Amino acid sequence: MSSLVKRPSGVASWYLPGILGGLVFTMKKMLTNLFNQKQMPTLNYPEQKYEYGPRFKGNHVLTVKKDGSIRCTACMLCATNCPAQCIKITAAESEDPSVEKYPISYEIDVLRCVYCGFCEEACPVDAIRMGPEWQTAALNGSKFTYDIQQLAYRAQLKGGVVSVLDDQERHKAGI
Ligand code: SF4
Ligand code: SF4
Repeated sequence: MSSLVKRPSGVASWYLPGILGGLVFTMKKMLTNLFNQKQMPTLNYPEQKYEYGPRFKGNHVLTVKKDGSIRCTACMLCATNCPAQCIKITAAESEDPSVEKYPISYEIDVLRCVYCGFCEEACPVDAIRMGPEWQTAALNGSKFTYDIQQLAYRAQLKGGVVSVLDDQERHKAGI
């Protein structure tokens, strides 16, 4: 039976020149990087962090109204459009006659999320946005299912992000 892969013969079959060549290449790169640290294409994370552009889609935020209550109307458009099927909403009727429904539970499994931004695009009332946060380390898998408390009122949001619709209303009113 003939072999499909031909073995090199002569000097080409020696391993040592290849190993030495590899070591010289690695050493050359290491010394170049050591003396030209500003030119290095990599960052010394976590001391140095990459600055993403304003359109970066990081962790989700559920926006709030001016009174601090959640803006989401539990219409399910985000969950319907989510390709990863990672949004779970339980709706309830609101006591406020101007609001039809609200979510008593809103959860995103961020380990399944592909950060495509479809939820943000689908939302008709600017109730969900994707912000600049991207460092989502945790010790336990259950910590990656974000609930309303995490999505709307986590400490980094300093009381919640007021919707742009409210910003526009405020702008119109000249406040
Ligand atoms: S970013 Fe995409 S995958 Fe993630 S929750 Fe939104 S729609 Fe789903
Ligand atoms: S976040 Fe927006 S799209 Fe999703 S259920 Fe709430 S209102 Fe509807």
